[in-house]
Amino acid sequence: MIEFINATKCYKNDRIALSNINLKINKGDFVFLIGSSGAGKSTFMKLLLKEEELTSGTIIIDGVDITKLPKRKIPKLRRSMGIVFQDFRLLQNKNVYDNVAFAMQITGHSSKEIRRRVPSVLSLVGLSDKAKSYPSELSGGEQQRVSIARAIVNNPTLLIADEPTGNLDPQTAWEIMNLLGDINKRGTTIIMATHAKDVVDKLKRRVIALEKGVLVRDEERGSYENDE
Ligand code: ADP
Ligand code: ADP
Repeated sequence: MIEFINATKCYKNDRIALSNINLKINKGDFVFLIGSSGAGKSTFMKLLLKEEELTSGTIIIDGVDITKLPKRKIPKLRRSMGIVFQDFRLLQNKNVYDNVAFAMQITGHSSKEIRRRVPSVLSLVGLSDKAKSYPSELSGGEQQRVSIARAIVNNPTLLIADEPTGNLDPQTAWEIMNLLGDINKRGTTIIMATHAKDVVDKLKRRVIALEKGVLVRDEERGSYENDE
């Protein structure tokens, strides 16, 4: 589904953010992207979203070389992806229902579709009874559930999560991981950047480790630190 071929990204200051990355991520994979600050995780995710451009090499998504994608096709590419952030990024002046509905409105769905799908996705994330609440009235875990609902409501094939448990206590973090696990089981590919060592070590999913822009480890059932 996703393939990086000799992918290199240098920013304008000549800083090498990603250096000759080669990897494949299959449909339905659950991938932890790890590495210390500055390793290149954000750059990796921004390249998928075409918020940044490669300096050399290629990224192929579903058979399409996205480095050659015309500008007018970028919105469609982004619609195939959902994004979850560490700091939730909810609209504070909209309630839970409207935060999720808004994601469908801006992608041009009919109000009938919205009325059908928003309640079902709120139920999936366990927030049916909070539909009328505002973000400020919710716990961190609940806010992250809203942001996950918003990210999946348009049925993306890829969910990109940037430290989704970074602002949550351990118990709540595990609840969010369970939810992401359920979403993955339903077929959505998940790429999750994280520093949560305990989560990575317990779940034993694929681990892609970056160090100073270099892919230093890619393991099918990996751990946070190198075992060897
Ligand atoms: P991570 O997300 O793992 O912390 P980043 O992808 O943000 O890493 O950064 C990788 C490298 O690229 C770092 O050296 C960082 O300083 C540099 N970098 C990131 N964004 C920019 C930018 N917009 N301009 C210049 N350098 C950048
Ligand atoms: P609780 O809030 O009762 O502790 P969770 O936080 O684990 O339950 O999950 C709340 C909702 O998130 C569930 O109603 C379900 O929709 C979804 N969910 C999360 N984890 C799971 C799971 N492992 N299996 C099924 N549904 C889950």
